[in-house]
Amino acid sequence: MSLITVGTMAFDAIETPFGKTDKITGGSALYVAYAASNFVKPVQQISIVGDDFPEEEMAELRRRGVQLEGVEIVKGQKSFFWSGRYHEDMNSRDTLVTDLNVLADFKPVVPESYQGAEFLMLGNLSPDIQLSVIQQLKQRPKLIVMDTMNFWMQIAMPGLEQVLKHVDMLMVNDAEARQLTGQYSLVKAAKTIMTMGPKYLIIKKGEHGALLFDNDSVFYAPALPLEEVFDPTGAGDTFAGGFIGHLAKTGDISFENMKRGIIVGSAMASFCVEKFGPTRLKEISKEDITSRIQQFKDLVSFEIELL
Ligand code: AMP
Repeated sequence: MSLITVGTMAFDAIETPFGKTDKITGGSALYVAYAASNFVKPVQQISIVGDDFPEEEMAELRRRGVQLEGVEIVKGQKSFFWSGRYHEDMNSRDTLVTDLNVLADFKPVVPESYQGAEFLMLGNLSPDIQLSVIQQLKQRPKLIVMDTMNFWMQIAMPGLEQVLKHVDMLMVNDAEARQLTGQYSLVKAAKTIMTMGPKYLIIKKGEHGALLFDNDSVFYAPALPLEEVFDPTGAGDTFAGGFIGHLAKTGDISFENMKRGIIVGSAMASFCVEKFGPTRLKEISKEDITSRIQQFKDLVSFEIELL
């Protein structure tokens, strides 16, 4: 089944307690595509870059079954640039720079060849752009999942509330869920978010795993306890790519299958944090992914006799 992904393709400059990078490739849609393409083909990408974005990165994506017809390349302009610095705990970070560049005037056009996709992943991006993609689809996908971040809550809250009414699932981290609802309790925040539009919600808690909610049920998956977390940038998007990649591969959007999707997403995210940027995602094989998912199974499965 095909999957449309929307988001940024960017340059990032990252500082962690372990080191610092100059401009490296990143962006929400880049991470989603690298993760999802392990499970489903084609991944149909919608994004925008300047003519500074490396052709090698585009070629690598194409090689993995990512279609780039929906990626606009603007001559003479710069790609989106983001810079962030992580705190000692590696769970929180400060944004140092957000230069929208080409993103400022982005009017996405959904190519005709993308029409009919069953799954839509709205990666972190301006809510107006996310909504415009939904509105251009002639046939509503089976599942629309949306990510967002504090930046858009600060500058585009009315637009964000509007898109929320059109999606099936929101995926945010704990701080974003609290900011969006003003509720400290994540259970209360989840209830509030599910009155805003989405039927399902995933709250990511960094090294503490992720929660999946629907109206009556909640499921929790831990993150893999890793000895070293090198760079968490893109972990959330990689999680999203693994999650929706699994759902698109199986075509099954039951709550039970979403639980499996969360495990697949968590496994993919655990690779992402091992090296700077998307480096590690480009190295791993199918066998690496399978054995990491097995590690998750071993981590959480136990036998107990009930009284
Ligand atoms: P994550 O660590 O999963 O939140 O994703 C980090 C990625 O999001 C980086 O590669 C950035 O280029 C990208 N990013 C940062 N800020 C924004 C923003 N305001 N909108 C869209 N993408 C962003």
